[in-house]
Amino acid sequence: MPASKTLLNEPLADAAPAATPVSLPKSSSGPQADKLIKLGLRRALDLVLHLPLRYDDETTLTAIRDLPPGASAQVEGVITHHEITYRGRRQLCLTLTDENGDPLLLRFLNFYGSQVKQLAVGVRLRARGEVRDGFLGMEMVHPAYRIVTQDEALPQVLTPIYPTCAGLSQAYLRRAINHALAETPLPELFPDELHAEIIAPLQLLPLAAAVRTLHHPPAEVDATALLERTHPAWIRIKFEELLAQQLSLKRAHMQRRTRSAPALVAGLLAAEQTLVARLLSALPFALTCAQQRVQKEISMDLALPHPMQRLLQGDVGSGKTVLAALAAAQAIDAGYQVALMVPTELLAEQHVRKLRGWFEPLGIHLVWLTASLKAKEKRAALTAAAAGEAQLIVGTHAIIQDKVEFARLGLVIIDEQHRFGVEQRLALRSKAQHEVAGLNWQPHQLMMSATPIPRTLAMSYYADLDVSTLDELPPGRQPIVTKLVSQARREEVIGRVRQAALAGRQVYWVCPLIEESETLQLQTAEDTFARLSAALPELQIGLVHGRLKPADKAEVMAAFSRNEVQLLVATTVIEVGVDIPNASLMVIEHAERFGLSQLHQLRGRTGRGSTASACVLLYAGPLSYTARARLNTLRETNDGFEIARRDLEIRGPGEFLGARQSGTAMLRFADLQEDLWLIEPAQRAADYLLRKQPDIVMQHLKRWLEGRENYLKV
Ligand code: ADP
Ligand code: MG
Repeated sequence: MPASKTLLNEPLADAAPAATPVSLPKSSSGPQADKLIKLGLRRALDLVLHLPLRYDDETTLTAIRDLPPGASAQVEGVITHHEITYRGRRQLCLTLTDENGDPLLLRFLNFYGSQVKQLAVGVRLRARGEVRDGFLGMEMVHPAYRIVTQDEALPQVLTPIYPTCAGLSQAYLRRAINHALAETPLPELFPDELHAEIIAPLQLLPLAAAVRTLHHPPAEVDATALLERTHPAWIRIKFEELLAQQLSLKRAHMQRRTRSAPALVAGLLAAEQTLVARLLSALPFALTCAQQRVQKEISMDLALPHPMQRLLQGDVGSGKTVLAALAAAQAIDAGYQVALMVPTELLAEQHVRKLRGWFEPLGIHLVWLTASLKAKEKRAALTAAAAGEAQLIVGTHAIIQDKVEFARLGLVIIDEQHRFGVEQRLALRSKAQHEVAGLNWQPHQLMMSATPIPRTLAMSYYADLDVSTLDELPPGRQPIVTKLVSQARREEVIGRVRQAALAGRQVYWVCPLIEESETLQLQTAEDTFARLSAALPELQIGLVHGRLKPADKAEVMAAFSRNEVQLLVATTVIEVGVDIPNASLMVIEHAERFGLSQLHQLRGRTGRGSTASACVLLYAGPLSYTARARLNTLRETNDGFEIARRDLEIRGPGEFLGARQSGTAMLRFADLQEDLWLIEPAQRAADYLLRKQPDIVMQHLKRWLEGRENYLKV
């Protein structure tokens, strides 16, 4: 694809047509013009695409006697009374009387001296605001107002209100935008074929018409559709924006193919001598079909000389760790080092235990790195990593500290990737990034997550990643039965714990979450431990929380995994990754305080063995609407994808995805709840353009994303 050369290498910002900087009407320079730059409005085109936040309706007047209390309206009249009073606080009170002779009180709590002078008796005013039935009759507090002459015509169209910042007035913005509109043509970019296939069926307005409609809505416009952003003009804009997002993410994806990474192939080893083969045959289980499929996807990517960037999503307990181990084995076979980064010490410790069990019999040197390691151990680990002796390095974010160096890092694996920020993921990747023979060399990257995101959203957000999905649990798993039980029945639940433990099962007791205070959280955990110890003297009980020394933490977990402890009282430190198959009962106190995916993760600590598992969600009423929705969802389903879908419904995409996801920052107009249906056509259009019209791709990106593309470097 020769044309794609420009497509991939051309930086957007530099290629900006220098001919169209913001040009402003003559009268406008000075501080307000600087503010435009602050808002990111550099080019005339940026102004044209700076679309209204909302609209004010100044097209009609309401007689004061017809004012609807509680609603917004506009009235016109003459000021007949003017007074500064001190009712509670200093305020300016005006009486406005309309042509029927009806009065309306206008109250201003904040006002300037100049306003007091301006709003004198006899002045004609249009005031617009919410009408209240106040103490002294009908009133408007802080109405928007305009001094008018008698018989001044009403505007024919809705008044656009633009996003702005302090010191930049609507009037100035409007002037600048209108000026830019007049001199900026917005020709259609799409070729006819694309237009016929995708744009026409959606019945979208031409771009220039859409933009004009939004800046200057015609009198007969469907105002509701305009305000709710369902008007075809808005749909066109949202489509354009989603297309830009898709193009940009896909372009990032293609750009990766131009970078170099070590091709992780085993070299001279016979197939059955590879570490991958030996690990597979040493495993105590056979891979599920889903695991085999995903392993192949990962393995093929790793063998390419370009950096893999793959997200592996699979529900809690679907068996992601072994896939990480197999990917690591492939890198080690090829003579490279692997770094595995996890979010908590507990999980690091557990992975180390599991991976040592798998790898050390096969002669692989594994070290681990966490903040709390003893100085001597840490030094040894650092030396081994830097010298290339350590083949697999497991750790928390301690792995990304400056001191840490790797000799030949070929693969980076990030477990529970949603728990890390973008910067941390970038830092780990850059550890291994360097120039080799003039090429920018990057390690492969595998990210794992148990918080799956629904397909359409994944299409939007992860278009720059390759996604593998584990959609099958290992065989023999028993579904977890989830019960909601009122806190009032705590004693009964304790009785059940006793029974279960005496019958040889192991139990987690999760302490209430206290987000505001870590000290209080700790206190609660210790209290819970003390009370359960008193109530259940016949059981061995352990306590694990975040403040415990790592060695003590490890000791408790080891005792629990050896079944010397039957009941483990824990904070959310056990939320991710902990894997103890004999634990088949979990009690979560004050479950209403936890988030949906957090509860699902916690619950996923059970149901890992062959006995039927149960999860008891203790709650204290009264439950809020969303808390009830969360708990019911959990009771109704064990399916992580379904839970993610409902979580998205309850929380909305902004909160669900967090600001961390790269794709979010690109969208100003499209709303992923309302406009999900547009993603699929946007994606088809993106594929079409990338295949056939790379020049148009660049033009479209310049229009919509210039200066914003930094988000894509992630
Ligand atoms: P997660 O995807 O949540 O990280 P893990 O990798 O911790 O899940 O796996 C959960 C449990 O399932 C572990 O005990 C693991 O050894 C076991 N497991 C993984 N794959 C299989 C399989 N194919 N058959 C049986 N057990 C498996
Ligand atoms: Mg895991």
